[in-house]
Amino acid sequence: MEKRFVYADNAATTRVTKPVLDAMLPYFTEEYGNASSIYALGRSAKKALETARESVAGSLGAETSEIYFTSGGSEADNWAIRSAAHRLAKKGKKHIITSVFEHHAVLHTCQALEKEGFEVTYLPVYENGIVRVEDVKNAIREDTALVTIMYANNEIGTIQPIPEIAAVCHEKGVLFHTDAVQAVGNVEIDVKAQGIDMLSVSGHKLHAQKGIGALYVRKGIPIDNLIYGGAQERNRRAGTENVAAIVGFAKALEIAVKDIPEKAEKITAMRNRLIDGLLKISHTRLNGDRNKRLPGNCNISFEGIEGESLLLMLDLNGICASSGSACTSGSLDPSHVLLALGLKHEVAHGSLRLSISNETTDEDIDYILEVVPKVAERLRAMSPLWERIIKEEVSGGK
Ligand SMILES: *Cc1c(COP(=O)(O)O)cnc(C)c1O
Repeated sequence: MEKRFVYADNAATTRVTKPVLDAMLPYFTEEYGNASSIYALGRSAKKALETARESVAGSLGAETSEIYFTSGGSEADNWAIRSAAHRLAKKGKKHIITSVFEHHAVLHTCQALEKEGFEVTYLPVYENGIVRVEDVKNAIREDTALVTIMYANNEIGTIQPIPEIAAVCHEKGVLFHTDAVQAVGNVEIDVKAQGIDMLSVSGHKLHAQKGIGALYVRKGIPIDNLIYGGAQERNRRAGTENVAAIVGFAKALEIAVKDIPEKAEKITAMRNRLIDGLLKISHTRLNGDRNKRLPGNCNISFEGIEGESLLLMLDLNGICASSGSACTSGSLDPSHVLLALGLKHEVAHGSLRLSISNETTDEDIDYILEVVPKVAERLRAMSPLWERIIKEEVSGGK
């Protein structure tokens, strides 16, 4: 078997594609004006900025005036949640509803608000990794300010019933925000049709560069100032605009939302082959609902294997992937997402996330399916944990 390079970590970040880079290039060396300047060079930057805003709005089903550019998904999440919380607290509403398996940009923001005196309800996601609409309904109180539930989970790819949750929120007059960073470009999203009040999106998860994203805020919902200074982003977020990044982001988003059903069908077929192939290895399980998941997400736990060792061995074989044990982020605790599904610590530790994209080929899948079983076998042969699992089985434990 010939060694290949296979990038299967598109949920972590993606490559900037050629059309996106080409759209950006003129804004570095030729169209470098400050969008606030009044001469032609500045006006041209301003025009590019506003055309990009119009395009981003169009890609999400929003109006141009409802889009604020940010430095990415984390900033958009922080801004939306903190602004809604602080504004509604003035009306005596200090309760927030979210889920246990949100991205840390949402969870840590909620935890910071708890320290300020807000009360937060963390809804469960059950074994399939999906929030129940009924739970949202039951959790809403008189003093609930905001519900924030992610559109699709970044680790296990499960897609949440967002239009249904939004409808429940509106019935009860509660604001609804969604972190749609993983979903945009993979699932068809129309903020108006789906009743979304606020939505976060990030560029680098959809083939734009890192450090750019946007927050959609429905017209009529006031939003706090994020950065004081100039009048950029309608006086809400000061600082000279990153025109090149914004233009690239708009281009990447435009490409991402095109032909979603066709792309999803192709990617889902590859992903299913990946899942079925890996589940042939003994003592494995698929994490998250099999069908209500992002086309490119495959998350499998291997009993008796350490996630880190698996990643290192895959790296030696040219495969970039990610694991559910969070040692990479400086913590020994397994992922909060996998624990939320009810996985035991040692099983969560042996998890592998492969996130494929439109650029993945059948040959890439063949290669992964050749490498992973061999690597898993070798790691288990050296694992005392695996030895114990097998011994317990032989002695009739299971
Ligand atoms: C990547 C990611 C973020 C953070 O986006 P950045 O642009 O990297 O700040 C937030 N939420 C989810 C679900 C993500 O996958």
